[in-house]
Amino acid sequence: MTDGVFGRESGHEQVVYCQDPATGLKAIIAIYSTALGPALGGTRFYPYRRESDALEDVLALSKGMAYKNALAGLDLGGGKAVIIGDPATVKTEGLLRAYGRFVRSLGGRYITACDVGTYVADMDVVARETTFVTGRSADDGGAGDSSVLTAFGVFQGIRACAEHRWGSTDLTGRRVGVQGVGKVGHYLVGHLVKAGAEVVISDVSRTAIERVRATHPQVEVSDSLVDDRLDVYAPCALGGALNDETVPRLRTEIVCGAANNQLAHAGIDKVLADRDILYAPDYLVNAGGVIQVSDELHGFDFDRAKRKATGIFETTKAVFALAAAEGVPPATAADRLAERRISEIGRLRTILTP
Ligand code: NAD
Repeated sequence: MTDGVFGRESGHEQVVYCQDPATGLKAIIAIYSTALGPALGGTRFYPYRRESDALEDVLALSKGMAYKNALAGLDLGGGKAVIIGDPATVKTEGLLRAYGRFVRSLGGRYITACDVGTYVADMDVVARETTFVTGRSADDGGAGDSSVLTAFGVFQGIRACAEHRWGSTDLTGRRVGVQGVGKVGHYLVGHLVKAGAEVVISDVSRTAIERVRATHPQVEVSDSLVDDRLDVYAPCALGGALNDETVPRLRTEIVCGAANNQLAHAGIDKVLADRDILYAPDYLVNAGGVIQVSDELHGFDFDRAKRKATGIFETTKAVFALAAAEGVPPATAADRLAERRISEIGRLRTILTP
């Protein structure tokens, strides 16, 4: 078999196509694994040009969620959904509720949340049709804006990197460059400033820069953090920040940031390692957001979620230790740690309990 989902040998458990012509809903839900529990992952609402692009994306994203949730120590598997269309023009209450009914039809095998193109208010609408949804607004009993603990988790990752590289978590006087000061980046700047770091930021949006400078006037602004001498570089904008063009130019000792899919291709982490740049895998250090929204499934408690996100510090150190022990870059070590947990803890479900 050479085509379709099976032909990809992708290892996914289930892929569901959902259509409701009356509202224009066209969605694909992909469940990569439920070995650790219900498959949690957000809904991306995006105007894919072709159905095959949407499938490609949802397969990769759902697998990524399985690894992220496993490494975050959650009792949750990995899944993701995509809704095909421009959210600015086709998103309606009816469409979101129709989508909610499809999520409900999976009986809890898949739990949805926000992603690109969907917001907490949308999850409140989806929640009118299903309880298998998280990332709702605080007013609705939800966890609210997940970037709060995402930034906190990245900060824990940076502390772990500092300890690994310099023998201390102290960031006083360390020069940290934050690329992208949007929802996550601006909170991260707050943690870094408080920790005594010298922060330099970049963003394509003047408004985003001004917002940070209004609270932290001492923060410097740069046009190209890639060429700046830094101690830590924190990509917090788009994916692909670490590529064949940027990595050779970097003048930093550590890369640790929130952006998803920072490595432009497999193998670029080896180039980072060869340049003696310590890279903290993105999906490990940006898991604070999923930790925050998954806590909502038990009745949201911010302090409990924050304590759990603090664990990113220890997990980051464990990944570096495994990387050293097995002679592989940290990204490979993170994958191995996630795969081991999925297989070891997932196996326990074969023990029959009354
Ligand atoms: P956001 O859209 O609020 O912020 C992104 C910022 O990056 C914006 O201010 C934008 O102007 C800026 N930007 C875009 N291109 C840039 C460039 N070339 N150079 C510099 N700045 C640029 O998004 P966010 O929620 O803060 O997320 C940031 C990253 O973290 C994304 O990759 C996202 O997938 C990832 N992430 C976010 C969360 C979360 O909870 N929000 C969780 C996990 C991962």
